[in-house]
Amino acid sequence: MASVVLKNITKAFGELPVVHGVDITIPDESFTVLVGPSGCGKSTLLRMVAGLEDVTDGEIAIGEKIINDVPARNRDVAMVFQSYALYPHMTVAENLGFNLRLKGITKGERRRQALEVAELVGISEYLERYPRQLSGGQRQRVAMARAIMRDPQVFLFDEPLSNLDAKLRVRMRTEIRQLQQRLSTTTIYVTHDQGEAMTMADQIVVMRDGIVEQVGSPLEVYDQPATEFVAGFIGSPS
Ligand code: ADP
Ligand code: MG
Repeated sequence: MASVVLKNITKAFGELPVVHGVDITIPDESFTVLVGPSGCGKSTLLRMVAGLEDVTDGEIAIGEKIINDVPARNRDVAMVFQSYALYPHMTVAENLGFNLRLKGITKGERRRQALEVAELVGISEYLERYPRQLSGGQRQRVAMARAIMRDPQVFLFDEPLSNLDAKLRVRMRTEIRQLQQRLSTTTIYVTHDQGEAMTMADQIVVMRDGIVEQVGSPLEVYDQPATEFVAGFIGSPS
């Protein structure tokens, strides 16, 4: 695995600046949560790491390698979205094996790997189903399994639990954390939910209006908020 380093990252959409010189170091094998109100630039930062948005200024590195000019498909990252983005016309097994098929891996080997990963996230019974035949939680597990199949250095999650009901959301927090610990992946997890951030993170990055307000462990951010904004945001109920 590898660390991710964002150095003085700035992003503007046309004339509109939305991220202003952000520095973040995501340690190797850590679970880092970017948290902040809607519109503060969390998804934009994540999409720049994934290569889905250009960086206006600054540098992004994975491990030792600066990746600004590496196209998304060649970046060693996998992203899980709120909206699952599964292929509707493919079964779960086919969804999981899709990337391997592109790489020319045989059907038997695709099947073997899909089974192994399906077991890991608890979807073994659903391999022959289509996404529409699954619940929200099951779909999100399939999306996670598909990300794991890519065996990336870095996992990116963008509000993956937002579409789930409150009870399932809390259960999935634990599942995602256990999975990350088992696989030892470097993870960047975006949420606007401070409760999620506090319970899941090794490291929390609190953002507001395109800047970083504070970086620290959940305890540090809670006990010693750096700004009034952090105190108010972290202290307010989810
Ligand atoms: P968050 O994920 O924290 O809710 P975003 O990163 O989605 O915030 O958005 C940050 C800001 O950038 C918002 O003001 C949003 O409207 C703006 N923005 C995001 N994507 C685009 C885009 N493609 N074009 C123009 N503005 C955008
Ligand atoms: Mg967002």
